[in-house]
Amino acid sequence: MKLSPEKFQALRIIERKDYASDLWSIRAKSQQKLVFKPGQYATLGVPAGDTLIQRAYSIVSSPNEDELEFFIELVPHGELTPKLYALHPGDTIWMRRQAKGLFTFDERSGWQKHLLLCTVTGVAPYVSMIRTFAKAETEGKPVPYKLTVIQAASRSWEFAYRDELETFARSVNWLRYVPTVSRPWEDSSWTGEVGRVEDILRKYTDTLSLEPRETTAYLCGHPQMIENCKGLLARRGYPKESVREEIYWIPAKTNLVEAAATRP
Ligand SMILES: Cc1cc2nc3c(=O)[nH]c(=O)nc-3n(C[C@H](O)[C@H](O)[C@H](O)COP(=O)(O)OP(=O)(O)OC[C@H]3O[C@@H](n4cnc5c(N)ncnc54)[C@H](O)[C@@H]3O)c2cc1C
Repeated sequence: MKLSPEKFQALRIIERKDYASDLWSIRAKSQQKLVFKPGQYATLGVPAGDTLIQRAYSIVSSPNEDELEFFIELVPHGELTPKLYALHPGDTIWMRRQAKGLFTFDERSGWQKHLLLCTVTGVAPYVSMIRTFAKAETEGKPVPYKLTVIQAASRSWEFAYRDELETFARSVNWLRYVPTVSRPWEDSSWTGEVGRVEDILRKYTDTLSLEPRETTAYLCGHPQMIENCKGLLARRGYPKESVREEIYWIPAKTNLVEAAATRP
C-alpha cells in the first residue's frame, strides 16, 4: 500500500505502558513535529491489505513535548484497536500530518471556572491542557483559571493519569482532580468517590459553586455519559454554548444494552 507522504508520516513507538488488559498508553516519535493545540486529536492508522484503517485519538502530550502520547482502550471486535494493541516499542504506525478538533480550552469567554468531565480515556485532552498550563506556569505565566476534572472509570487502576493529576493538584492552586469508581464492588480498596460522573456532577457544581454563565463545561468520552451530563448541566442552567463535547464513538444499535451494562 502506498501512502501519500504529504498526508501521512510514520510514528515510531518508543514506550508502552499497560494499565489493564484493555487499556494502555504509548509514547511515539514522529518524523516531523505535529502542530496541535491541547485538546486536539491525531488520526492514527495501521495498514490492512490495501487499506489503511484510521481512527481519531486525542493527544495526551502537550505540544511542547518532543514525543506524542496516546491513551487507548481496546475494543475487542473493533477494526483498529486490536491491531494497535499488538504493537510494541520499535513498531511503526501511520499518522495524518494534520491534527484536528475543536475540543480545545475555552480562553474566549474569559471565565475562570472550567469543569472537565470524562470517562476513562476521555481524560486524554485534559492531560494535554493541564501539562501545557503547568509548563507555562514554570515559565512564569500564572494560570488564571480554576479547573475541576471529574473522571469516571469502572475500577481505580483504569485511572492511568491519576498519580500525575493528583501530584499537579497538590502542587498548584488551579486544579482539582476527582476520580470516581463506578464498580466499587470490584475494587474493595477504593476509598474515593463512587458512582458515574452523572451521579456526582450536581454535588460538585453545587459545592464548588460552578455556576452557569461563569463556568465552561467539557464532556469527553462515552456517548451515554455525554448525553446524560448534557441533560444535567442544562437543568442546572448551563447554556448550550458553555458546554463543549468530544464524543468518542457512536454506539451500534445492537450493542446498546451491552454498552450500558459495561460502561464506567
Ligand atoms: C475525536 C475523537 C477522539 C478519540 N480519542 C480516543 C482516545 O484518546 N482513546 C481511545 O481509546 N479512543 C479514542 N477515540 C475512539 C477511537 O477513534 C476509535 O473509535 C476506537 O479506538 C475504536 O476503534 P476500533 O476501530 O477498534 O473500533 P470500531 O471498529 O471503530 O468500532 C467497533 C464497534 O465498537 C464501538 N466502539 C468504539 N469505541 C468503543 C469503546 N471505546 N467502547 C465501547 N464501544 C466502542 C463502535 O461504536 C462500533 O460499534 C476517539 C474518537 C474521536 C471521534
